[in-house]
Amino acid sequence: MAVPSETGKVDDFPHAMMSIPNTMKALVLKAPQDLFLQEVPIPEPGPGDLLIQVKAATTCGTDLKAYRRGHPMIPMPGPLGHEYSGVVAAAGDGAPFAPGTAVMGVHSAPCRECYWCLRNQENLCESIMSTIALGSYAEYLLIPSRIARVNVFEKPKGLPFEIASLLEPLACVAQGTSLLDFTPESSVLVIGPGAIGLMFVAALRAAGVKDVTLAGRNPDRLAVGAQWGASTCHVSEIVRGDPRRFDIVIECTGQVEIWEKSVDFARRGGVVMLFGGCPSGTRASFDTRRLHYDQIALLSPFHFGTGAVRQAYEWLVHSRMDLLPLLSGARRLDESRQVFEDLEAGRGLKYVFQP
Ligand SMILES: [Zn+2]
Ligand SMILES: [Zn+2]
Repeated sequence: MAVPSETGKVDDFPHAMMSIPNTMKALVLKAPQDLFLQEVPIPEPGPGDLLIQVKAATTCGTDLKAYRRGHPMIPMPGPLGHEYSGVVAAAGDGAPFAPGTAVMGVHSAPCRECYWCLRNQENLCESIMSTIALGSYAEYLLIPSRIARVNVFEKPKGLPFEIASLLEPLACVAQGTSLLDFTPESSVLVIGPGAIGLMFVAALRAAGVKDVTLAGRNPDRLAVGAQWGASTCHVSEIVRGDPRRFDIVIECTGQVEIWEKSVDFARRGGVVMLFGGCPSGTRASFDTRRLHYDQIALLSPFHFGTGAVRQAYEWLVHSRMDLLPLLSGARRLDESRQVFEDLEAGRGLKYVFQP
């Protein structure tokens, strides 16, 4: 166990040094639609690992997909939840933070030595998903040393835990924006006003982009985008084939039909970012003439590297993004059934479990 250092803060959590029980409550996904609150052993942190007491764990589209039909990256039966913030409850030898420190982090980290990591494509690291911190819908979460070392940060005192928990989805968005060449004068269309689409709006607006349009159906979600300065419209209202309209189109629905349509909304020489992951096994087709003669570039980023995580941290800590409208309310772990029913029905954007 590490000795509390000077950076070890106890402000956010006055009982940081209290003893850790042997078991905890955790949500376990046994099979699709089968989520249970169980009493499970609390893991012991090994060298470099962190055990954090979870203060906030936000829900995510990936969790909803896993709940609906299973997910290739989320083993079942197994713990659920990958967005989190909390307070270090115990630290293995050599861990970067001492007990009592309020932290925020993501659930993966690149190896930094494989073919892709060495080519500045850490998001494609061949082992990015081999060491993950899954199970933030629980009282405690073990963060393996590989992640603790590079992708966990001290949470500034003024940043609420529930906002700090948004680091992971924001890192996905930062990976996307890092691949886009935009200026304040760029015109950008974001399709899909879910949490990710809205975070793209927030990030682009924070970067000074004046002309951001958010397209979708849900009026409450569009209203959040409008509040952040985006023009809003229904997808059917987007004018196709305007040769000078959108420099960049960002697709955030994960629907094949919208992937295909997106290509029609970019200007000649524009970029289309296909961001929303479609169900596995699906295929999309595009007009080859449009892609070639109008020189449409297609991008489809996956996950994030350490640079994107740092960018997301900067946004949370130093930008004036107000992400509170993304949060639909705080919930207890024993309310999970209702939470996922609400998410399935499109009620609310992201809920915050406060274990
Ligand atoms: Zn997520
Ligand atoms: Zn790697």
